[in-house]
Amino acid sequence: MKTITVNKNVLSKNDEIAERNQAALTARGIRMFNLLGSPGSGKTTLLENALAHPNVDKSKIAVIEGDLFTDFDAKRMDEIGIRTIQLNTEGACHLEADMVECGIEELNLNGVETLIVDNIGNLVCTASFSLGEHHRIAVTSVTEGNDKPLKYPKLFQTADYVVINKIDLLPFTNFDVDRFKADVLSLNPNAKIFVCSAFKGDGMDEIVEFLTK
Ligand code: ZN
Repeated sequence: MKTITVNKNVLSKNDEIAERNQAALTARGIRMFNLLGSPGSGKTTLLENALAHPNVDKSKIAVIEGDLFTDFDAKRMDEIGIRTIQLNTEGACHLEADMVECGIEELNLNGVETLIVDNIGNLVCTASFSLGEHHRIAVTSVTEGNDKPLKYPKLFQTADYVVINKIDLLPFTNFDVDRFKADVLSLNPNAKIFVCSAFKGDGMDEIVEFLTK
């Protein structure tokens, strides 16, 4: 029986395209964020509420939505007046750089300074595929429990920003914010950690600031 390892080639091909995406965006003065987190962590609600903030100039923002099959998330962006495109992977569980390259080609990015990719809800392989982003944001919620950083280290090691969402639900959980922060920082001492409730609006000003500065 023969076993061949294909991961490395797939990833190095992906990285080539990711580098191309990043160079093309940098040349146009656009910063790309890759937003990662599990299904139900509130990634899209976070984006929706951050981008509807009065300090956000919507003409300077665009969003690429990733999903398996639906266009629900792009419709949500469209409703708040954000330029958006939906990528459907037909079942594939993460976005890859070539998919985002298609999105970049299709979107009108004139005047855009911030491009945000709302990746597929998944804590595992999304973290292994660079899309060419300049910054990576990991979103987690207090209802997911404390063990996420140590169970999914790659995501937290590679994130520039970590957002702890649904802080309004803290009294109903045994989530320990300090322990979570300590675990993230043990993996990634440079991570900037934010606590918010995208639904209620708490802590959103700081998130809007790093998305738009
Ligand atoms: Zn995957």
